[in-house]
Amino acid sequence: MLKKCSACGEVVRRRDCHKNRYGEYICRQCQAKGIRFTPWRVFLHNGKKWLISFLLLLVATAIVILLFWWGGQLFPVTVLFDAANKSV
Ligand SMILES: [Zn+2]
Repeated sequence: MLKKCSACGEVVRRRDCHKNRYGEYICRQCQAKGIRFTPWRVFLHNGKKWLISFLLLLVATAIVILLFWWGGQLFPVTVLFDAANKSV
């Protein structure tokens, strides 16, 4: 049973390669070089991590801005807020 290495494209026997969690076959030579996934998978993996940290940062920034906004320290909207509070 022959399998094609997802990283280098070499055709190797099934027992001479390793199937990773993404269903990709990585040959022994690539494993020795420290390759566990294809460059595309590594990119996706890192990209997802980057996206999550970016979203967390965005949410954290939004919360901080909202806190300042509610505190009336970032924008001078306290007058508007007072008017809105009085009408309720
Ligand atoms: Zn390989």
